[in-house]
Amino acid sequence: MKIHEYQAKEILREYGIPTPQGNVCFSVEEAVEAARKLDGSIWVVKAQIHAGGRGKSGGVKVAKSLDEVKQFTGRMLGMTLVTHQTGPQGQVVRRVLIEKGADIRMEFYAAMVVDRSSRRVCLMASSEGGVDIEEVAVSTPEKIHKVFIDPVTGLTGHDAEDIARKIGIAEAAVAETRTLLQGLYQAFDSIDASLVEINPLILTADDHVVALDAKMNFDDNALFRHPEIAVLRDLDEEDPAEIEASRYDLSYVSLDGNIGCLVNGAGLAMATMDIIKLYGGSPANFLDVGGGATAEKVAEAFKLMLRNPKLQAILINIFGGIMKCDVIAEGVVTAAREVKLNVPLVVRLEGTNADLGKKILAKSTLSIILAGNMADAAEKAVAAAKSPAGT
Ligand code: GDP
Ligand code: MG
Repeated sequence: MKIHEYQAKEILREYGIPTPQGNVCFSVEEAVEAARKLDGSIWVVKAQIHAGGRGKSGGVKVAKSLDEVKQFTGRMLGMTLVTHQTGPQGQVVRRVLIEKGADIRMEFYAAMVVDRSSRRVCLMASSEGGVDIEEVAVSTPEKIHKVFIDPVTGLTGHDAEDIARKIGIAEAAVAETRTLLQGLYQAFDSIDASLVEINPLILTADDHVVALDAKMNFDDNALFRHPEIAVLRDLDEEDPAEIEASRYDLSYVSLDGNIGCLVNGAGLAMATMDIIKLYGGSPANFLDVGGGATAEKVAEAFKLMLRNPKLQAILINIFGGIMKCDVIAEGVVTAAREVKLNVPLVVRLEGTNADLGKKILAKSTLSIILAGNMADAAEKAVAAAKSPAGT
């Protein structure tokens, strides 16, 4: 799960990390009022969407008067912001963060992620803040410094100061940076984050460090431990199909191809997408119905795929182990009764009750292209997507 910048900053403040003063606003009037209450004469209007790269796309504006706060907020609210992280469809701006303008001397990068290979939290920091870190990683990887944090000791003062100096934090601010990074680790660890990114972390003209931007992602499997974080979920920022899928406890990810995949098991689902690609096609989604799915759950999954306007064929690839093929068949028949199936359906059933499943499908009025094995299924689905039903 992701949250907004202003929510992430509220969490950072709880862990003693300095952030600019600011308030989230939902209207122009609120924004002007919020700016008026912040002393100073420079404000920043920041679009709140679950994506970065806003600065380059008009989603972060420095205002030098209340009138500019009004203008920028008016322009931003309701606009569809397209950044390199939103995808071409962009994201509608529904809230803005009004902050007191910061006096930036230098911009740095600091982030923490779970590093699976070392099984530790990795602190990454760089002198190259405020820019795309992906670009830095490719062109000048030596400018990214890392510490793999021992879970027993946490981030030590020594390691924190060392990395602060390596990225070029002025000596006068090293101690403050150490405290900030240690607070960041404490936050990361306590809230079960999967990513915390401060880009930029700034050094002000008077040698203080401040988190100017903040991004946080959470481990969904740990959200039950953090109801205070779970409530921060903003459904407006999420893919409607994925929200619907999460209601039925289905693992569903929208993709941009045209072949819908209904599979049991994440590994088989990944392999199915790979083999579709291998035969020159493109998957419309990742979908793992899980091991213990009911016919109702399968029906919901099927309907979910059919809502996609780009869909041109469906491939059902089931290896019945715990999952029984007849349950899948029943779910598909139920769903097809409720919604019109207007694309070719390729089915490969193998394993527990495969014959029974095939019988159920054969008895229905659905026109099905049966496939013998995975390669056959993929080939048929790719061909079917090229010549949709009725042609
Ligand atoms: P992002 O582009 O979505 O990552 O948004 P950021 O919050 O990182 O802002 C982008 C850039 O806007 C920063 O790197 C800064 O250069 C600039 N910026 C943000 N806040 C301020 C501020 O308070 N004062 C000034 N002068 N620039 C700011
Ligand atoms: Mg940023």
